[in-house]
This record gives sequence, structure tokens and C-alpha cells, in this order.
Amino acid sequence: MDVFKITPRGYCYGVVDAVTMAKRVAKDPAVPRPIYVLGQIVHNQHVVNDLTELGIITLEGPNRLALLEQVPDGATVIFTAHGVSPAVVERARARGLTVFDATCPDVTRTHTLIRERIAAGYSIVYIGTKRHPEPEGAMGEAPEGRVVLVETEADVAGIPFDPRTPIAIVTQTTLSQWDTAAVIAAVKARYPDAEVYNEICRATQLRQEAAVRAAADVDLVVVVGDRRSNNSNRLVEVVQKVAGKPAVRVESVEDLNPAWFAGVRSVAVTAGSSTPSPITRAVIGWLEQFTGATVRS
Ligand code: SF4
Repeated sequence: MDVFKITPRGYCYGVVDAVTMAKRVAKDPAVPRPIYVLGQIVHNQHVVNDLTELGIITLEGPNRLALLEQVPDGATVIFTAHGVSPAVVERARARGLTVFDATCPDVTRTHTLIRERIAAGYSIVYIGTKRHPEPEGAMGEAPEGRVVLVETEADVAGIPFDPRTPIAIVTQTTLSQWDTAAVIAAVKARYPDAEVYNEICRATQLRQEAAVRAAADVDLVVVVGDRRSNNSNRLVEVVQKVAGKPAVRVESVEDLNPAWFAGVRSVAVTAGSSTPSPITRAVIGWLEQFTGATVRS
């Protein structure tokens, strides 16, 4: 069997910066203790476990304003790479907490865009994943009634805005380019004058395009990534839907099932942008050792 390593794969610059910041904060004796992160710093349990070992407490739950109330007075809080709403920033400031913001610059750009469009009188159709922290943070930039979350084409019928008012369509950074194009087209069919701001980040686009290209030449694609990682799940999806090839997602080497590789002559391996390289290397190493595969770049 041949194993191909898909490039680019794994950590993007936003994830590198967020993890580096959290580790630096954990090691700085001048930073007030305890140190909390509002949600997973990036969506990967291995990364979260590493931070736990450094003494950082990860708070988990769907509402980050509510999570903030679990942080005791005088403590430190880190905002994740996914960004938080202005209400969370204001509350942390009002409580006098020490704050470190690991929001990815690409997410910050989307927040700025939403603020600008709202100030210009637009309502926002935000295309994103329900119950994911990035939409919660970004949509918090708009007043209630001026923003709606749309995940699928079926959601478009429920958009409450008057077609005669200005509408901006804004996307989450880690979506599938192909699915998003279909949802944008459905929104445009209802709101032909809507302005489109495709905010899918370059790291996400490049990983998806490389995975689809590589999938054309192999029997199976293995995506290494956490179940909560939006971009890892989208990598599986684009291989299946766009390239029409089988794909499996594993969180680590322990998830690999030898039965998947029976009769398979070629496999390509990629990783979501929040997956640490050692986890992906272990998966490639297993394939080499247990299937006798030849690894190629
Ligand atoms: Fe930033 Fe994109 Fe990486 Fe998310 S996937 S952290 S938006 S570069």
C-alpha cells in the first residue's frame, strides 16, 4: 500500500499563535492564578490536555458569557482562537479580570466586517455551524434582530429580513467552500441584492483543495482531527462529496481500524488545522508499520 502525506495539513498560523500564547501565559509567574480558558483554546483534546498539565483550566459549555461567571475574581482568562462577543469582552473588563485574547486575526477581521456593515445599516445573514463558538462570537457584534444564523439551504426560508433592506452575507472561517457556495446561492436567490463576504480563511481553503486533489488518486483519505474540529469534519466532507472518495476521521492512532485498509492500495493522510503534528506522525507511522505501507510526500 502507498501512503501519501497531503500538503498543507495540520496547524495553521492562528492555531500556532493561540497555543503559543496559552503556553507563554501558563509559564509566566507574573500572571495572576488561576488561569482559565473560555472553551477549548483550539478544538483538539490533546492540546487541551497539554494545557491542563501546565495548570490551565478549560471551561466547557455553550454560553461563554455564562462560563465567564465561573472565573473567580482576580483570576486570568484566555479567549480562544474562535473569538468572543463584545459582551464577553466587556464583562471580563468590568470584573477586572486579567485577559489574554488568542482570537485568530482572520476571525477578528470578520468581527470588524460585521461591525462595519451593521454601522452602515445592513442586516447580517451569517452562514455558520450551529452550536460552534465562532458564530456565537461573531454574531455578538450585531444587535439582536439584525443577524441570523444559517447553516443549510433549508434554513434560508426562515430568514426574517425584508428583501428591500440592505443585507450582507458573511461566512464562518472554517466551512466547506463547496457547501457554502450552495448556501450563498440559496440566500442570493431570496435576496438578489445581498452583498457577499466569503470569509473562509486561506488555511481552510488550501487544506480542502489539497485534500480534494489528492483524493482523486487514492482509494481512501484519513483525516486526523478532533470530533469538535469544524475544519477537520469539513475535510472529511469535501473528500466524500466533492472528490467522491471514502474518508475517515481519527482523533489519534488508537482510532485506526485495520479492517479499513483491507484491499486498499493507496491512502492519503491529512489533518485539521488544530491537530498537533506528533498525532498525525503517529498515524502515518502506524500505517507504515502495520500495513507495510510505503510513505510518500
Ligand atoms: Fe485562523 Fe483559519 Fe486557523 Fe481558524 S483555521 S485559526 S480562522 S487561520
